[in-house]
Amino acid sequence: MKTIQFPKKEDWNELLKRPTRTFKDIENTVDDIFKNIQQGGDQAVLKYTSMFDGVDLKSFEVSAEEIDQAQSQVSDPLKSAIQLAKSNIHKFHEAQKTEPVKVETQPGVTCWQTKKPIQKVGLYIPGGTAPLFSTILMLAVPAKIAGCNEIVLCTPPDKQGNINPVTLYTAKLCGIDKVFKVGGIQAIGAMTFGTETIPKVYKIFGPGNQYVTVAKQVATTFDVAIDMPAGPSELLVVADETANPEFVASDLLSQAEHGFDSQVVLVSTDEATIDKVKTAIENQLKELPRKEMATKAIENSKFVLVKDQTSALELIDFYGPEHFIISTKNDDYFVEHINNAGSVFIGKYTPESAGDYASGTNHTLPTNGYAKQYSGVNLDSFNKAITYQKITEEGIRNIGEAVELMAEAEGLQAHKNAMTLRRNEVENK
Ligand code: NAD
Repeated sequence: MKTIQFPKKEDWNELLKRPTRTFKDIENTVDDIFKNIQQGGDQAVLKYTSMFDGVDLKSFEVSAEEIDQAQSQVSDPLKSAIQLAKSNIHKFHEAQKTEPVKVETQPGVTCWQTKKPIQKVGLYIPGGTAPLFSTILMLAVPAKIAGCNEIVLCTPPDKQGNINPVTLYTAKLCGIDKVFKVGGIQAIGAMTFGTETIPKVYKIFGPGNQYVTVAKQVATTFDVAIDMPAGPSELLVVADETANPEFVASDLLSQAEHGFDSQVVLVSTDEATIDKVKTAIENQLKELPRKEMATKAIENSKFVLVKDQTSALELIDFYGPEHFIISTKNDDYFVEHINNAGSVFIGKYTPESAGDYASGTNHTLPTNGYAKQYSGVNLDSFNKAITYQKITEEGIRNIGEAVELMAEAEGLQAHKNAMTLRRNEVENK
């Protein structure tokens, strides 16, 4: 856990590289698997499930009995916690609904826009190293609010070929009835092309490890959209001497325990704070069941000393963290000026795990610097906006000549003609 002191700008790129393999490393594997799924359908999916998840399944559709049985295997306190989280996530995403926009841009020219749900969506729920049932809430709740009418859920089976009962409980609570025991690249391939059992979808959502993330990116070269590249988790904390080092350490470890390839970064203007956080990490790490994974991720992590809050902000914006926690004496400075971050957590009583589970914001967020150009999942991720227009005789009189002139200047005679015919009729009335 070495502290990098006052790094120069030209070194930021190298310093802040994510510890994941590159797209190129995984792309060929994805291409092969996709080709085989396109040709072999269910049989190919079963083959890859055996290869990567170590289980030989006869079929991968979760039965109604399995879903029903799972209901009694979840404790009442956990059910209540999931319901509380669902209610907050529902409130925050329901509030994101917008009214249709209607504008008369000129007399007789009316334009409007309404949002329509994407009809077929696929939700990927990670499950390789931990059953992330919370992700079902993050994806299924907004999908239902938007009104998507076919929702398919894929998640990897365990070594016995089962899905965690909490995952099945949460799926049922959210009204999802098509659940498939398929993970990784093969799940993304199945939802991209469709198989005998798994329907093809129009858009694939959800986080996952680097294999899932690259598979989603490759899926976009076929006729499927994705929410965003949401790969191995990252957290950047900016903290100064007013922060609680124990809290900061717990936040950094909460993301480090996700996987070997997670990355956490601490940026501070105070060297003593960095040292205190490191000591707290060492102590807390000993108690963690997933300490092997967290230790590896901490090895990939960075502790960066900067000279003032301006250089801190510049470096953070350059990195574009998926999660950004602010614990300083001047939180508002960072809140106001940050441009590139997936989700922001403000003040010492706002741990990232609140947003991971229950506060109401979405935890499916852009990683690997994609916060520079992508938003996290939100209600609009499940919608598309359609625009409409209606032009009257008065409207033709008002914009007709402009359209003709522009069409002519672009050399598109048929475009011009479509307006000229109408103008002539209106003028001759
Ligand atoms: P996962 O479901 O994403 O991946 C498991 C699958 O990976 C397996 O089913 C297997 O098919 C495949 N796989 C494993 N090794 C492979 C190999 N060598 N070749 C091909 N395929 C292979 O579950 P996970 O591994 O636990 O990862 C979950 C990830 O999700 C973590 O990296 C976590 O940080 C991330 N996450 C991201 C966000 C976000 O919003 N960005 C949110 C939550 C979790």
